Amino acid sequence: PQRGEALLQVDAVRKEFGGLVAVNDVSFEIRAGDIMGLIGPNGAGKSTTFNLVTGVLPLTRGAVRFRGEAVGGLPSREIARRGMSRTFQHVKMIPEMTVLENVALGGYLRSSSGTVKAMLRLDRAEEKRLFAEAEAQLKRIGMAEQMHELAGNLALGPQRLMEIARALCTDPALLLLDEPAAGLRHKEKQALAEVLRQLKREGMSILLVEHDMDFVMGLVDRIVVMEFGTKLIEGTPAEVQASPVVRAAYLGT
Ligand code: ADP
Ligand code: MG
Repeated sequence: PQRGEALLQVDAVRKEFGGLVAVNDVSFEIRAGDIMGLIGPNGAGKSTTFNLVTGVLPLTRGAVRFRGEAVGGLPSREIARRGMSRTFQHVKMIPEMTVLENVALGGYLRSSSGTVKAMLRLDRAEEKRLFAEAEAQLKRIGMAEQMHELAGNLALGPQRLMEIARALCTDPALLLLDEPAAGLRHKEKQALAEVLRQLKREGMSILLVEHDMDFVMGLVDRIVVMEFGTKLIEGTPAEVQASPVVRAAYLGT
């Protein structure tokens, strides 16, 4: 995508779970090359918004357009094939496999034909290609040295980076990260922020769901603040920090 073009357009998306309105007609847009932060307290509807955008949950109402095409109602695998790649709030990995194997497997399962059954029948050339891609993505995010360690031996910070490497294997146009900094130590957060800045320099667009305000403020181009399923405000980090609505609702001042 061209830098600045409308990459993702979220138009009045709504999700009801029974009587609960988890996402209440939320709209925002992400331009190519930007990092968009989505913040708000627990239960605000951030993950649900994420699941609506990536096709994991069906919309109650509203529309999602990706690169100009409506993707609402498409299966998540088809949306992934078109260039959206996400991580989950809880790391999914096979601890007894190496980091490289986990990334290769993750990349494969995200691809269009990826089922575990089909993987057992992969030919050598295809397997080689998967591992080469996994290795390239691990090197890209600075994990070359940990490639052959068992995934289960990694600290939480490197585990989150491994998840990002997996998401990068499908060559996405938009990377969606659900609370990648949650539970990380300060040093690990810094390392993660540096990886995200590097990806942005390379032209990657990112939707970052995060709880940690400080982490978000120093990293993103724009922020959407949600509360009780509703979008409170959107703006640059400076605009959001200066907003009386946000100060009252989110910062408690
Ligand atoms: P956040 O990610 O901002 O913490 P969520 O999107 O996970 O918030 O949740 C928003 C609201 O929707 C919460 O009240 C949550 O309990 C509810 N919710 C989320 N997923 C489901 C579900 N599958 N079924 C019923 N309620 C849900
Ligand atoms: Mg969440």
